[in-house]
Amino acid sequence: MSAKIIDGKQIAEEMRTELKAEVEQLKQQGIVPGLGVVLVGQDPASQSYVTAKERACEKIGIYSNDNRLEAETSQDELMALVERMNNDPKINGILVQLPLPKHLDESEVLLKIDPSKDVDGFHPMNIGKMVAGEKAFLPCTPHGIIQLLQRSGVTIEGAEVVVVGRSNIVGKPIANMLIQKAEGGNATVTVCHTRTKNLPEHTKRADIIIAAAGRPNTVTADMVKEGVVVIDVGVNRVEDATKKRGYRLVGDVDFEAVKEKASLITPVPGGVGPMTITMLLYNTVESAKIAAGIV
Ligand code: NAP
Repeated sequence: MSAKIIDGKQIAEEMRTELKAEVEQLKQQGIVPGLGVVLVGQDPASQSYVTAKERACEKIGIYSNDNRLEAETSQDELMALVERMNNDPKINGILVQLPLPKHLDESEVLLKIDPSKDVDGFHPMNIGKMVAGEKAFLPCTPHGIIQLLQRSGVTIEGAEVVVVGRSNIVGKPIANMLIQKAEGGNATVTVCHTRTKNLPEHTKRADIIIAAAGRPNTVTADMVKEGVVVIDVGVNRVEDATKKRGYRLVGDVDFEAVKEKASLITPVPGGVGPMTITMLLYNTVESAKIAAGIV
């Protein structure tokens, strides 16, 4: 069997079209969702992520408030900016691009963000609510994965899911979302990591594998069963002299071999990646609706 590709770009585009229509409707009621974006320093990768997020906002009609600060910005200055955005009614979501320069205390900054504007879903208040199964802003990458599965018609309820990776931004939250007694949950989840004794023993059992290890070829064809659904979160650079920039991007899964056994699989790039920004837009629109008392 050769797997059907889960086209993250297309699913993200569909969601953005839905969000654009929703934003237009909100505007007719005088509500303009706003995202405050903070970038400290000139890290090129962070600059391109922030630019992509701002462009995505613009395209669907979200107001974006751009704050690009010098690398030498002090903790106090940054905290004061977050405080101003917390109090600014035009801003419904606050995004502080990570990582911050080393002299800044990241967790203090994330704690400062008003949980009702924490559209990245990284504030302990939102993490706690998510774990407890209460309504919360869900972190964007794992939330995007749930959307990819649901919109591809995958049955999550009752599925054996194996998550490879236990980071705070992917592995732990996706495992948590999948075990919730709620739509998009009700799965039986195993979380694997570098101390897992026999990774293939777990992955072979899985109906759904979510690979978030940050290492190419962590999941190979001999580790999966026929018909598995594979979500590849990894984004890794491997040297490639045939490319102008000298490298290409690959995921954590041996895509070419695994796709011959899987029923559905995400490519890298073009799978999970486009969903992450989309879910940030989604959370910002939700936040604006909550602030306006609509939901
Ligand atoms: P991370 O913080 O480095 O965590 C990696 C996790 O994988 C750790 O828990 C680690 O175990 C585990 N791991 C590493 N090698 C393993 C192996 N051989 N077997 C089993 N477990 C292994 O990474 P992350 O932030 O979660 O990101 C994971 C990948 O997803 C990266 O490639 C990242 O670039 C990508 N990513 C993509 C998006 C997107 O939007 N597309 C968003 C976020 C992340 P230990 O805990 O034992 O060390």
